Amino acid sequence: MSDVRNVIIIGSGPAGYTAALYTARASLKPLVFEGAVTAGGALMNTTEVENFPGFQDGIMGPELMDNMRAQAERFGAELLPDDVVSVDLNGEIKTVTDTAGTVHKAKAVIVATGSQHRKLGLPNEDALSGRGVSWCATCDGFFFKDQDIAVIGGGDTAMEEATFLSRFAKSVTIVHRRDTLRASKAMQERAFADPKISFVWDSEVAEVQGDQKLSGLKLRNVKTGELSDLAVTGLFIAIGHDPRTELFKGQLELDEEGYLKVDAPSTRTNVTGVFAAGDVVDHTYRQAITAAGTGCSAALDAERFLAALA
Ligand code: FAD
Repeated sequence: MSDVRNVIIIGSGPAGYTAALYTARASLKPLVFEGAVTAGGALMNTTEVENFPGFQDGIMGPELMDNMRAQAERFGAELLPDDVVSVDLNGEIKTVTDTAGTVHKAKAVIVATGSQHRKLGLPNEDALSGRGVSWCATCDGFFFKDQDIAVIGGGDTAMEEATFLSRFAKSVTIVHRRDTLRASKAMQERAFADPKISFVWDSEVAEVQGDQKLSGLKLRNVKTGELSDLAVTGLFIAIGHDPRTELFKGQLELDEEGYLKVDAPSTRTNVTGVFAAGDVVDHTYRQAITAAGTGCSAALDAERFLAALA
C-alpha cells in the first residue's frame, strides 16, 4: 500500500488549488494534476479580477492563480502539469492514469476539472478576451459602465446577463440566431420590458473587430445573408458551458446538462471516496470564490473520509 496516496486532485483552478492547500495543510500530501496546457484554470485567460476578496485594488487573473499555486506548494502539495487521461474510481483504491500511461493510486479523489465556456469560434475572440470580450457579466459587467454592449445567445443565461448588464451599460443589444428565444417566459418578459435592451433577430456574429480592444461586430443575417455593423465596446458570449466530465462518464453520476452531481451541501459524489468541487458541479454561480469555497469543502470532506478509514 506504500504507493497508495491519500488523495489525488484533478484540476488546478481555484477549486483544485484550494483543495490542494487544505489537504496539504492537513498533512495528506496531495498529488495535483494541473492539466497539460491550462494549468491555473479559467482565470489564466483573463486580465483584472476585482471581486476576489482580499485584493483591494484587484489582481490580474494569472497572478492570483500563481499565488494560489505557490500557497498550496508551500505546504507540500505535489503539482504535476499533466492531464489525467483515464480514471477507475470504483473500489477502495482509485486509479488515475496520466498522459505517459503511469497509473497513480489513491484512497480519495477530488474532481475539480471546471467547465469550458462555449465559444463562437471566430478569429480575434480569444485575443480580445478581457479586452472587451467576456463570458461572465457578474465578473466583468462593472468594467462596461455607460458603454454599448452586445450579448450573444437566446437562453436564460443570455437574458440574465443582458438584464444585469443594463444596470451599467448605455445600451445592450441581444443578438440571437433565431426569431424566438429559448429563455423562460419570465426572463424574456424582463428583457423585453427593459428600455435599454434591444434585439437583433436571426443573426450571428460574422466578425469580432478590434486590435488591442474590441471596436465592433460584423453581424450576418442567417436568413438573408445580409451583413451589418454593430458598434459595441463590450461583447458577452452567453451560448452555454460544457462541464469537463468526459473522463467520468459511466463512473460518476451526472445531471442532465452533464455536470457532476454531489450530495449537497457536501461535495460527495455517488461513489464513496470521490468528491467534486467548483464549476464542474456548479452551473449557477460560476465564480472563483465559490469554486475556492467548494474546493475547501471537498478537502474537508476528503479529510473526514480518510480519518474514518484509519
Ligand atoms: P477552472 O478554473 O476551470 O479549472 C479547472 C482546471 O482543471 C483547469 O486547470 C484544467 O486544466 C484542469 N483539468 C480539466 N481536465 C483535466 C484533466 N483531465 N486532467 C488534469 N487537469 C484537468 N470569476 C470571478 O470570480 N471573477 C472574475 O473576474 C472572473 N473572470 C473570468 C474571466 C474569464 C475569461 C473566465 C473564462 C472566467 C472568469 N471567472 C471569474 C469565472 C472563474 O474563472 C471560474 O468560476 C473558476 O475559475 C472556476 O474554477 P474551477 O476550479 O472550478 O475550474
